[in-house]
Amino acid sequence: MLTQVIRTPHGRPSPSQQARDRIFFRNGAQAFQYTYHILPTLYGDSMLLYLHGPETETSDLRNLDMDTRTLACFTDALKRHSGMIYLTGLPGHGHTATCYAALQHVQTPDAKVIVLEHSVGPPVSGLTHVPLRSEIGQTYAAALREVLLHHPDVFALEEPPDRETASQALHASAAGRLALSTLYAADTVACISALLQMGLSSLLVSRTLTLVVAQYRLRRICTQCKTSTPPSDTVLKSFPSIETARIPSTWYFGAGCEQCGMTGFHDHVMVYEALPIDATLRQAILEENVGETLRRKAALTGCISLLDAGLEKVADGATTMDELLHTVPLTAVRGTG
Ligand SMILES: [Zn+2]
Repeated sequence: MLTQVIRTPHGRPSPSQQARDRIFFRNGAQAFQYTYHILPTLYGDSMLLYLHGPETETSDLRNLDMDTRTLACFTDALKRHSGMIYLTGLPGHGHTATCYAALQHVQTPDAKVIVLEHSVGPPVSGLTHVPLRSEIGQTYAAALREVLLHHPDVFALEEPPDRETASQALHASAAGRLALSTLYAADTVACISALLQMGLSSLLVSRTLTLVVAQYRLRRICTQCKTSTPPSDTVLKSFPSIETARIPSTWYFGAGCEQCGMTGFHDHVMVYEALPIDATLRQAILEENVGETLRRKAALTGCISLLDAGLEKVADGATTMDELLHTVPLTAVRGTG
């Protein structure tokens, strides 16, 4: 049953608000929401819908299809009770669910956990949701200042829109608060580069950043019609940026059946890249040695790249090579940029 529709006060959403409008509905005890984006076209409006499942109410880090290393990195960073954790990747890959799961992981009856959001979805028990009041001219930085005046033990924010907001959040996390934020970039290294390009002090970033996690949601091959084929030499030569030895020798795909609506895919599989910031990476950030230098240092720390995590899913028959290369930005997959 449709229970609530939020639209902007002036009819058609403004460009900055279009992607944040949501439709909420319930199915029994479970709350769902659609996030929708409207694109005006020559012959009417085109609408893109994202369906968010009920996991936002009862999400758990252990239910997010994380590999063992990513889960361990995440829980370690959450134990520190201070510092900044960034969730990155491109929009639409489940960052909100991961953020809520992390907040619920640290939430206790004594902890004040505040989430600052452009618009609030189904409320999560134990969290204090604060919507941005852009309709009265409130900026994100001003809203975050108000949040911090309430001395949260843990706080979370969406995509800081400017240096002022990002800087406030980092300073607060340096002062003994745990902070989580999304920042959309191709991968973990690109996220750190983006922070520095935003004009933030490398000293502040290196002192406060504890973990960056990139995540992408790929379509899972339908188990009812899964079949396999070895890639031809011609196909292998079309991936000059990936060493042939790293490409799985058997590729799986869905031939199409009733269950998957002849698409070959059913459900999803996640790939993660977790980069905990150790002393070596901290020094590299301080010296602003980002890009390729930081990527090489990250690899030495045992960070499993999005490419390697994705190739493992391809080898396991969870998803296809095409799905990996079309979903994860090429700069991240190729390990360059
Ligand atoms: Zn199928």
